[in-house]
Amino acid sequence: MAQMAKTAEMMESKEDRLHQWLRDAHAMEEQALTMLNAQAQRLEHYPELRNRIEKHIQETESQERRLRELLEQNGGGTSAMKDAMGKMTAMMQGMSGMFAGDEVVKGAMAGYVFEHLEIASYRALAAAAAAAGDTRTEQLCESILEEEENMARWLDEHMPQIVETFLEREARDMTAKR
Ligand code: MG
Ligand code: FE
Repeated sequence: MAQMAKTAEMMESKEDRLHQWLRDAHAMEEQALTMLNAQAQRLEHYPELRNRIEKHIQETESQERRLRELLEQNGGGTSAMKDAMGKMTAMMQGMSGMFAGDEVVKGAMAGYVFEHLEIASYRALAAAAAAAGDTRTEQLCESILEEEENMARWLDEHMPQIVETFLEREARDMTAKR
């Protein structure tokens, strides 16, 4: 009996687990904002990509706010520790690409990976919310999921063009230096 009680103690309720994952998602959005802002500043030669990233910054700011408000209403709040660690990771990633000549392409690839991480996270979160009977959270996750899917699709469709533009610019710069 003592053993069973101990097992029950270690288990999380569906609600607790849902709220923990919502805090993780909030930290992920904080990280996204750091990454997207760093990228947008260095894209003067890629106006279409920059415009799309700036649009997604608006969406991401709204996602961050909606998640924070939900967490505050649930009485849990956000995870300051995870938020800070996420921002730090994003800053290091941004800096590591800063002096590489191909940062535009590496940045687009990193963005592509990140959007798919977000898609996986909100797909899982929507299922967890449904399992906990939390319709409002399920709807929020599905609405954010749609924004992430649209951004991922845009990057998917524009990746060839970004790579072509980068390679053409690089070839032109080399010719100019000869
Ligand atoms: Mg997002
Ligand atoms: Fe996103």
